[in-house]
Amino acid sequence: MSTLPQINPATGEKLPSVPEWTADEVLAAMERARAAAPGWASTPLSQRLLAIKRLREYLADHVEEITRELASYTGKLETEALSLDIFPVTDILAYYEKHAEKILAPRRVKTPIVFFGNRSYIEYKPMGVIGVIAPWNFPFYLSVTPVISALIAGNCAILKPSEAAPGVGVLIERCFQAIGLPDGVFQVAHGGRETGAALTAARPDKIFFTGSVATGRKIMAAAAEHLIPVELELGGKDPMIVFSDANLERAANAAVWGAFTNAGQVCMSVERVYVQEELYHPFLAKVLEKTAQLRRGEGYGSMTYAPQVEIVQKHLADAVAKGAKIECGGRAANDGTLYFEPTVVTGVDHSMQLMTDETFGPVLPIMTFRTEDEAVRLANDSVYGLNASVFTLDMAKAERVARRLVSGAVCINEVITSVANPHLPFGGVKQSGMGRYHGPIGLHTFSHETSVMASPGKKQREISWHPYSPARDEALVGLTRLLYGGNRAQGLKSWKVILRELLGTYKKS
Ligand code: NAD
Repeated sequence: MSTLPQINPATGEKLPSVPEWTADEVLAAMERARAAAPGWASTPLSQRLLAIKRLREYLADHVEEITRELASYTGKLETEALSLDIFPVTDILAYYEKHAEKILAPRRVKTPIVFFGNRSYIEYKPMGVIGVIAPWNFPFYLSVTPVISALIAGNCAILKPSEAAPGVGVLIERCFQAIGLPDGVFQVAHGGRETGAALTAARPDKIFFTGSVATGRKIMAAAAEHLIPVELELGGKDPMIVFSDANLERAANAAVWGAFTNAGQVCMSVERVYVQEELYHPFLAKVLEKTAQLRRGEGYGSMTYAPQVEIVQKHLADAVAKGAKIECGGRAANDGTLYFEPTVVTGVDHSMQLMTDETFGPVLPIMTFRTEDEAVRLANDSVYGLNASVFTLDMAKAERVARRLVSGAVCINEVITSVANPHLPFGGVKQSGMGRYHGPIGLHTFSHETSVMASPGKKQREISWHPYSPARDEALVGLTRLLYGGNRAQGLKSWKVILRELLGTYKKS
C-alpha cells in the first residue's frame, strides 16, 4: 500500500503519513455514492440543512484544535489558518443555512402570450455525484466549500484533497464523520494525481476542480471523453493598480498583506503592482518598511509545498537576469523548513516570468505607470483574470477602471476580500477558469436547472401545432407585427384573426 508523506513545513517535523487510495477503491466509493444518491436527493432540504448546521457548530466548537492541526499540515500561521481557511467556511455555511431554501425553491417565470394559459417555472434538481478535486493552499476552505454546496443542493460528493497536505483530508473526513451523514453521501479519496485521475475516470456527474491551469486542462480533456461538466477554479496573476491619489498608508498595507499573507500562496494574491509614477518612491519606501516588520512565525508563515519554492526561485532568477532588482528578501530558509523571505522586486517589466506567470509565493514586484489607459492596458496584459485591485480615493475613476478590467472580480481600495463575501459569486475569466460558485449560483452550479412548461391540458392544441392553415399564418404574421414590429398598428389590423386563432386552440379540429 502506498502512502503520502507529510511534514510540518514550518518546522520540518515528520507527521503521520496517509494511505493512498487505489483506482479500485475510488470506483468502490463511486458505487457507494451512487447507491446513496437517491436517498440524499429526496431528503428534504430542511434536513440536509440540519446536517450543515451540525457541521458549522462542530467546526466552531472545535475551532482551536482544528486551527492548530491545519496550521501544522500547511505551515500557515494559526491566525491565517483561522481567518482565511476556517472562518470563511463557517461563514458560508451560515449563509447557505439562511438562504438555501430560497435559492433552491422552484422559480416561476413569465410565459409568452402564444402559450396563454400555461405556467412556466424552473426547478433545481440534484445532479447526482460530484467529484471535488482540491489544491493545497487553502486545503480546508477550497475542499469544504464546494463539498457543502454540492451536498446542500442534494448531491453526494467525493473529495480528492491535495497530496501536498494530506493530513487535511483526514481532518475533513473526521469533521464530517462527527455530523453523522448517511453512508456514501460524503467520502474522501486520499491520494495524489493518480487518485484524482481515477476520480475523473469514475464518471461523476460533475467535476469541480480547484488548482493549476495545467491540471485543469488535463481534467477538462478527460471529462470531455464522457461529456462530464467541469467547473475550473484556476490560477491568477492578479494586478493591483495604485493611483497617485490613493490613501498611501492603506495601499501599502494592502500590497504587503495581499502579497505575503499565506506566504503569497493565494490564487488571488497581489502578484503585480502598478504604481502611478508620482507615488512610486513614497509607496516603495512604505512597502519596504512594512515588509521589514514581518517576523517569521509571527506576522509571516511558511510556504507549504517544496516544488512551489523552486518556482519562486526560478521566477526571481529570470527577473534578475533581465535587469530586475531585489529590494529585500529573495532567499529560502534552507533549514529543513519551507520559509521563504518576503521579497520586494523593482525594475520589472512584462518580459519577465515574474510579471506574466503565476509565482504563487511571497514576491511583490512593483512597476510604474503614467496614465489610466496605461494602467488598464498593463493590468489586462495577462492570460489570467481572477481578481484585480484599484486604489484611488476618486470613486468615479475607481469604478471606471474596474469596468475596464478583464477579471472575475475587482476590489476597490481592497485586496483579495471579494472572495470572502459569500453573497458574491466567485470565479475567473480567461485562463483563471470557468464557472462560478458562492452566492446563489454556488448552489445552482451543482443543480440541473430544469425548465418546466405546464399546460392545464384544457386546450386541444397550441397555436403552433397541426393542423396548419392560411388563417393561422395570417394570425402569426399579425402577432409578430403587433408584438415586435416598428409599426405595431399594422399588426393590430389583424386582431380579429389573432383572437380567433388563439381561442380556436380550445376547439376540436
Ligand atoms: P495542482 O493543479 O497541482 O493540483 C490540484 C489538485 O489536482 C490536487 O489535488 C492534485 O492531486 C490533483 N491532480 C493533479 N493532476 C491530476 C489529474 N491528472 N487528474 C485529476 N486530478 C489531478 O494545483 P496545486 O499546486 O495543488 O494548487 C495551486 C494552484 O491552484 C495554483 O495555480 C492556484 O492559483 C490554484 N488555485 C486556484 C484557486 C481558485 O479558486 N481559482 C484557489 C486556490 C488555488
